[in-house]
Amino acid sequence: MEKAKVFWTDMRCKTGDSLLHKMDRLIKKAGIEEIDFNNKFVCVKVHFGEPGNLAFLRPNFAKTVCDKIKKLGGRPFLADCNTLYVGRRKDALMHMEAAFENGYTPLSTGVHNIIADGLKGTDDIEVPVKGAQYCKVARIGRAVMDADIVISLNHFKGHENASFGGALKNIGMGCGSRAGKMAMHNEGKPEVQQEVCRGCKTCAKFCAHNAISFNASKKASIDHKKCVGCGRCIGTCNYSAISNNVWSANDILNAKIAEYSKAVLDGRPNFHITVINQVSPFCDCHAESDAPIVPDIGIFAGFNPVALDRACLDAINAAPAIASSILGERDHKHTDHGTDHFIDVHPATNGLTQLTHAEKIGLGTSQYELIKVK
Ligand code: SF4
Ligand code: SF4
Repeated sequence: MEKAKVFWTDMRCKTGDSLLHKMDRLIKKAGIEEIDFNNKFVCVKVHFGEPGNLAFLRPNFAKTVCDKIKKLGGRPFLADCNTLYVGRRKDALMHMEAAFENGYTPLSTGVHNIIADGLKGTDDIEVPVKGAQYCKVARIGRAVMDADIVISLNHFKGHENASFGGALKNIGMGCGSRAGKMAMHNEGKPEVQQEVCRGCKTCAKFCAHNAISFNASKKASIDHKKCVGCGRCIGTCNYSAISNNVWSANDILNAKIAEYSKAVLDGRPNFHITVINQVSPFCDCHAESDAPIVPDIGIFAGFNPVALDRACLDAINAAPAIASSILGERDHKHTDHGTDHFIDVHPATNGLTQLTHAEKIGLGTSQYELIKVK
């Protein structure tokens, strides 16, 4: 397969320019104007950020993308779907409040927010997935599927099960309804290492399924009959006492994310933009954002989400670890996988399985040509 073109710009800005202007030039150069937006509904998939997290993308980036789409005649809206876990984005009312609190309002972005799977996360469409190994049908938020065009605006960061989250994670996991997210997560269920557990009970507060209980010594354990495998508790434990050490489960999750991405993108014009800044070790679904693991790198864009994710991953892996981050603490302790900063942070994961499965099912190529834009 021919190499996909991935365009990128760095974070440098001369006086009189701005990163937003650079982003505008980048997406133009990367070909967004080739899409016929005329009077089309355009879903711009974003992550509004869990309140408390400060690493999520500023709404200014979304405004730049939506302004461009409007200039090209399109009718953009910002979209996300509800979460599986307990938090402040688990139904549409809370989710809208969280988006507003984080600055995503029509006043700041010039467009409306739509919670694509409805009030309770049940408004989805069953979409057949061509060539799927695990999800013959994906359950996608209705408003995403009603759109004529899909644009993903992604923040690249780490993830405790998927290893990293880029375009595919934002599209595949992010556009799944609550039932869709459950279907993607249900292969693996975490365990508590009781000798490490301090009995603080934080994990139980974040479990939406009452799956975590405590014994007489205040040690946590997880009831796998109740647990849906959402992985939320893993990141909430400050002592790293909870982990999902089933490699195959994380790999299958990644394969399902690729298959859900295919369900969202197949048959519709699509384009993808990823910002590599504030690369936190955990997802923007966390109500905190730990120190970034590498310095800010730039903005990347292109038509092929697989190549885009691979280019972003390579750029991050080529960057030095920030010494004061979790990566700085853990770097060089795991040497059997070469250089993968996200595996250093989340040793039971391998994000490449997301990309290899995406290639296998025909979503795109991970071979890319990198083109710099000033
Ligand atoms: S958050 Fe961690 S340390 Fe606290 S109770 Fe849960 S497993 Fe134990
Ligand atoms: S115990 Fe299971 S359901 Fe509860 S937060 Fe952890 S992974 Fe999710």
